[in-house]
Amino acid sequence: MVNNYLSGWNLELSFCDLPDTFYALVEPNIVSSPQLVIVNDALASSLGLDVEQLKTSETIDVFAGNKKLEGIEPIAQAYAGHQFGNFTMLGDGRAMLLGEQITPQGNRMDIQLKGSGRTPFSRGGDGRAALGPMLREYLISEAMHGLSIPTTRSLAVTVTGEPVLRETALTGAVLTRVASSHLRVGTFQYAAARQEVEDLRALADYAINRHYPSIAKKDNPYLSLLEEVIARQASLVAKWQLVGFIHGVMNTDNMTISGETIDYGPCAFMDTYEPTTVFSSIDVQGRYSYRNQPGIAEWNLTRLAETLLPLLHDDQEKAVELAENKLSEFAKLYVTNWMGGMRAKLGLFNEEEQDEILVKDLLALMQEHQADYTNTFRSLTLGRLEKMFEESGFVEWKERWTARLQRQSNNEQAVQQLMKKHNPSVIPRNHRVEEALQAAEEGDMKPFLKLLHVLEHPYAYTAEQEDYTVPSDNGNSYQTYCGT
Ligand code: AMP
Ligand code: MG
Ligand code: MG
Repeated sequence: MVNNYLSGWNLELSFCDLPDTFYALVEPNIVSSPQLVIVNDALASSLGLDVEQLKTSETIDVFAGNKKLEGIEPIAQAYAGHQFGNFTMLGDGRAMLLGEQITPQGNRMDIQLKGSGRTPFSRGGDGRAALGPMLREYLISEAMHGLSIPTTRSLAVTVTGEPVLRETALTGAVLTRVASSHLRVGTFQYAAARQEVEDLRALADYAINRHYPSIAKKDNPYLSLLEEVIARQASLVAKWQLVGFIHGVMNTDNMTISGETIDYGPCAFMDTYEPTTVFSSIDVQGRYSYRNQPGIAEWNLTRLAETLLPLLHDDQEKAVELAENKLSEFAKLYVTNWMGGMRAKLGLFNEEEQDEILVKDLLALMQEHQADYTNTFRSLTLGRLEKMFEESGFVEWKERWTARLQRQSNNEQAVQQLMKKHNPSVIPRNHRVEEALQAAEEGDMKPFLKLLHVLEHPYAYTAEQEDYTVPSDNGNSYQTYCGT
């Protein structure tokens, strides 16, 4: 345990109790003139960190990767993963884990730098990151948190004072990321690929202890681990679908065991409701399109299940049967989570069998009329029905919905309250994100900070948010890029 000169740090590195095949020590890669661009005061406080201390040159050096925190040797984690379906051995190529902060509430949170330089896993890459993408991750991860979706958080962004060379020279930057852990499906794939069952068991025990301690005493804790991860991911991906979030790169190394959203590279929010939407420039087949996300999550969980087989039962045929049973729960759990969310979006407190048809008919109409996903639900919430709702299909649908609302005992006010809690007024609109990043790169953080402020309270329905509810002109033709 480290109680550092930087007051509030209370770090451990329990990950290093695992066999050393799971990590490599990394030395700081010195950068010339680090400067703080943004720090997350509220998150810092919840971590027990002294907000003022974080703004001193000593901490800025830590956030830029120039300096270790006393007593802890930073590491890069090893993992593997299916990237667009192809299996590869990987690892943190441009990230280092500084330690695990034990918060005043007793939670253990990874403090990780992203863009901090080369590691033994870097392969061809430079280990660096550019300011735009790091601010983009900061903004969208904090927006996800505002939306009440489990996610890694962003504590700070620093610029390094050094350019990173991409197609052009970009401003180098480092993101400080906070996560309940960085254990991935790919971490299990790494262990399984090395065929050392005791390493795999150590990893599974570590994951159970860290994320699901209550299952440690179950008859078959490894089967329970699979069950828990399936449940968390079914819930997570349903939440993504409900707000129109497209992750963009659901490789198995980008899927956490904790159930937090991770790796904000090519993600973006859908404007027009179109289930085939893809934003990532490299996803030419649409593998990670909006509509494919639940199926891909299930595919990834199947890869996780495969890694656990040696731990599930001595008889491998029985192990497969056990795993398949659990995996078969995913689709049901996903639909239950999604329908639960959709009912709330439509102000429904109780359940009726026909609800699923009501929801699907609305979505079909939205698709047909190329309606904005977020704003359609926002309009329904506010009772401000736009022109679209004058079309015959919508008129008929609205009558059914109104009749449905009247069959429950809750009054109008309660219905609207429920809807406001589940239909964000604002999402990170693509043109707004671009505008804010562009200004930030030119040294003006004001648009970024304003947008961040708005996105921190997406269910607030305040007047100042109005401007941020307008979709971009080019709808879903926006393109995003991995990495940089
Ligand atoms: P991602 O697509 O962000 O999940 O990254 C996939 C892998 O590529 C991870 O192991 C990253 O650490 C690595 N990687 C991405 N960008 C770089 C870079 N600039 N330098 C070194 N490794 C990188
Ligand atoms: Mg990744
Ligand atoms: Mg990435």
